[in-house]
Amino acid sequence: MNVKCLSLWQPWASAIAIGSKRIETRCWATSYRGPLLIHAAKRCRVGELRELEQQNFWRGAMFPLVALNDHFRDRLPFGAIVAIADLVDCRPTSEFGYLELEMPRHPDGINPMQALDWCEANMGDFSSGRFGWVLDNVRRIEPAIPYRGFQQLFNVPDNVVAGRIPPTSPRRCPKCGSADHLVTQRPCIRCDYCGYAWRFAFA
Ligand SMILES: [Zn+2]
Repeated sequence: MNVKCLSLWQPWASAIAIGSKRIETRCWATSYRGPLLIHAAKRCRVGELRELEQQNFWRGAMFPLVALNDHFRDRLPFGAIVAIADLVDCRPTSEFGYLELEMPRHPDGINPMQALDWCEANMGDFSSGRFGWVLDNVRRIEPAIPYRGFQQLFNVPDNVVAGRIPPTSPRRCPKCGSADHLVTQRPCIRCDYCGYAWRFAFA
């Protein structure tokens, strides 16, 4: 058996692995839905990494994987499988709205005065004509599994990742914390306990 895999440049691959990036943007769509391994490309573009790590929102998005005064290239895996997720949706970038793209996020344990907020729109290219691949149930694979990357979606034999995939943690309502009253109504999930509803990818 094989598992589908998608290769990304760093730091985008690790941004997915730690939950800071939830939508991958591509110039092509896929009808595939299901488990998807996230691979970090081997090639390290040092100049680009240096530019990104000087942007406050990138430093926030990569914390705590990369400490605030560390360099991306010293802390990120290259040429390796870094996470597994469920690919749950793929639609044109024009169909994504404020809740998915603009809601600010903030790194845990950092003083908000440091202004390290980022949002999903910072993590991808949502210009028109492209597609957003919506990921859910992301689990980081640590340490990363060295593996060669390929173009497009490619297959990885499941013995490569056997025993290395972390279990799914129970989904919880972001408002009341309940795990027992959630009703899936794609593309949303509703909490029957408190009435809160949210988009699938943000569970
Ligand atoms: Zn609730």
